[in-house]
Amino acid sequence: MAIYRDVQCTRRVMGKCAHESDLLAELTRVCKDNGVSLGRVEAIGAVRKARVGYYHQDRKEYEFLHFDGAMEILALIGNVSIKDGEPMVHAHVTLSDSAGRAFGGHLASGTIVFSCEFVIEVFDGPEFLRAPDEPTGLPLWNLK
Ligand code: ZN
Repeated sequence: MAIYRDVQCTRRVMGKCAHESDLLAELTRVCKDNGVSLGRVEAIGAVRKARVGYYHQDRKEYEFLHFDGAMEILALIGNVSIKDGEPMVHAHVTLSDSAGRAFGGHLASGTIVFSCEFVIEVFDGPEFLRAPDEPTGLPLWNLK
């Protein structure tokens, strides 16, 4: 059975990432600088190179894929919650190459921005805390 809570969007933070910044670190910094502990993230733009994770459910571990070269960010979507006492951005990204072929995965550090425009919706409500989840091996929301 799903476990969920009501949340209210209280404000939005909208901006652009610095050229050559690390995309995940940049979005995380914006959240920390703006006191965002619960919310959602979306972004579009382009990257110079990307590093994304694919989670092997059988081995319970991430494999990281590296894509070198210029790509469009067709869609980045994610959320913000708390892990180890700090805001954590969990985002997935769909990228495309020069032929329009799409691929992607779990956004990881090492994805370097060419340009990126983002919107972060800030939610009001009790914090969502991440904790180790036994059946998946992932740090998931510990909702009661
Ligand atoms: Zn993920």
